[in-house]
Amino acid sequence: MSDPSRLEFVIAGGGTAGWVAAATLARFLGDCASITLVESDEIGTVGVGEATIPQIHNLLMGLGIDQAEFLQRTNASFKLGIEFVDWLRRGERYIHSFGSVGRGVGLIPFRQLWLRGRALGVAGDYGDYSLNVAAARENRFAIGSGRGLAVPDLAYAYHLDATLLAQMLRDYAVDRGVRRVEGRIVAVERDSVTGDIAALKLEGERRVSGSLFVDCTGFRSLLLGEALGVPFVDWSNLLPCDTALAMPTSSGATFRPYTQSLAHPAGWQWRIPLQHRTGNGHVFCSSFMSVDQASELLLANVEGQPLADPRPIHFTTGHRREYWSHNCVALGLAAGFMEPLESTSIHLIQSGIGRLLNLLPRDQGAIATARAAFNRLSTTEWERVRDFLILHYVANERVGEPFWDHCRAIKLPPTLIEKIELFRQAGLFMREEDELFLDDSWGQVMIGQGIIPQGWSPLADNVPGEDIGPFLESLAGANRIKAQALPDHGAFVARMAGALGGEQA
Ligand code: FAD
Repeated sequence: MSDPSRLEFVIAGGGTAGWVAAATLARFLGDCASITLVESDEIGTVGVGEATIPQIHNLLMGLGIDQAEFLQRTNASFKLGIEFVDWLRRGERYIHSFGSVGRGVGLIPFRQLWLRGRALGVAGDYGDYSLNVAAARENRFAIGSGRGLAVPDLAYAYHLDATLLAQMLRDYAVDRGVRRVEGRIVAVERDSVTGDIAALKLEGERRVSGSLFVDCTGFRSLLLGEALGVPFVDWSNLLPCDTALAMPTSSGATFRPYTQSLAHPAGWQWRIPLQHRTGNGHVFCSSFMSVDQASELLLANVEGQPLADPRPIHFTTGHRREYWSHNCVALGLAAGFMEPLESTSIHLIQSGIGRLLNLLPRDQGAIATARAAFNRLSTTEWERVRDFLILHYVANERVGEPFWDHCRAIKLPPTLIEKIELFRQAGLFMREEDELFLDDSWGQVMIGQGIIPQGWSPLADNVPGEDIGPFLESLAGANRIKAQALPDHGAFVARMAGALGGEQA
């Protein structure tokens, strides 16, 4: 007889979201839950999603996945940040790096010392004070102190092959008891009294029942959106891009340890270097450019040889009004989508499943409270990420280009207006709740996008002016020296994964 208190998870969909959820639930709930995942080989996955942020370490460490094995299996490379080219205006570039910029003194934040140094004419580029930026400029990378290397701390994430990641997590989950069912979901059966989902009906008269359903069916949002009718909150007015063209190429001559984001007349292009190829894509707003024009622009701006035709993916930016309704939680594209500008989608899957585990109620009586908290926290997290993305677009000086003129006129959410005003006055920043991007990220993008504070905090006046120049130069100089001592990124990946050969190594 089955135990009524035992949770029976049914995950619908086997893309990155489905398998991240399955692996995490299997790892942390073990035998306390049964987990079934339904996926359809015929429908397939979205097949993109190659850049991550450092929070992915929490997933890998939580699952106990070895880094070298991960690099080998997903053809991954290392990512120190994102270089934004032509975003402020043509000819300008900056790097939003992971990790910290500079070093504060006592209670005085570094940026305040930099602002005062800038006013005194003794400060360099803001990026000079980030070790990650210094290493990225040299295409160098290392971690750990093995093999006689005394390696400074770099904050990093990965570029990876999303399909290989899903396969790796599928093997992990199936090894830990997750039941995989292949088949197309043709209907969702609901309890006639509670309205909860009772079962998924699959083609061939099959039925998969459960107590908690995780909708990972991608843009279709079959369970939360279609079956439960949870409306979509459309953010196209805030983030107007609605189409992406994805296209792999052979590797370019330079194996960069960072993502490139090149601004174009109606959007932007990504270049993501993997071990075996480069992922490329052009995200744009279809009101300002046709698919044909966007394809042409992409093809003219890739570095390697195309390995496939540009593949269009249409999307609407936004999210389901509730992420958890009845007994169904949506993750990944089924929950919503924000364009990949800061590589946040895989992280939002991770944080969604982590939040579900944190709030998972033991008995049904507590479910309404858990659900409300889950929805409130998820909404806040998504809105803060949204604000950060908008910042890149709104603060541009590409005057006279219709798409960019349109972006400068976007009516901003009050939360973002406040952030920009605080920063513009004196480089100040306040983190709200547990928002994802921290002071250093906001600071680099604000400054990179031309929002240069008009003053600085009185805290920085409490340092003798003549000390500021030498202090700044010592930090920048140390970064340059440390970066130059690091191995080449390609050589380091080859050594770790044992999978790179030829020119790149
Ligand atoms: P999908 O991959 O679409 O998977 C859906 C699953 O549901 C599939 O297994 C499918 O078979 C199944 N399914 C659907 N309908 C049925 C049915 N009727 N019956 C049975 N099964 C069904 N994220 C990042 O973190 N970094 C990035 O750099 C990044 N770049 C992106 C670029 C673009 C252009 C886009 C669109 C997204 C990007 N993302 C990125 C987001 C990332 O791709 C997704 O978050 C991630 O792939 C998760 O997708 P998913 O699993 O939710 O959906």
